[in-house]
Amino acid sequence: MIIWGFRSRNNVLGQRVLNCPNCHRDAMTAAVQSRRWFTLFFIPLFPIGAKKTVAQCGLCGFRYQVDNERAEALYGPTGNAPVPTQV
Ligand SMILES: [Zn+2]
Repeated sequence: MIIWGFRSRNNVLGQRVLNCPNCHRDAMTAAVQSRRWFTLFFIPLFPIGAKKTVAQCGLCGFRYQVDNERAEALYGPTGNAPVPTQV
């Protein structure tokens, strides 16, 4: 018996202060990139479809899709967002 299926893998890109299109305030916004993978025996083998990036406003919770290139330019492609330095 072969067990196959699909699952989504999420990659948190980071957080950044952006102006929210819903509440129009500058808010800490978290971005998550997700992509569907084909799995065989629950092991992800290869990605299917396009990457999708969703950002969520930290103040009102509004979620909106972000252009992948724009999100990677803002947050970085590897998810290693720069840690804000505290004074
Ligand atoms: Zn908002």
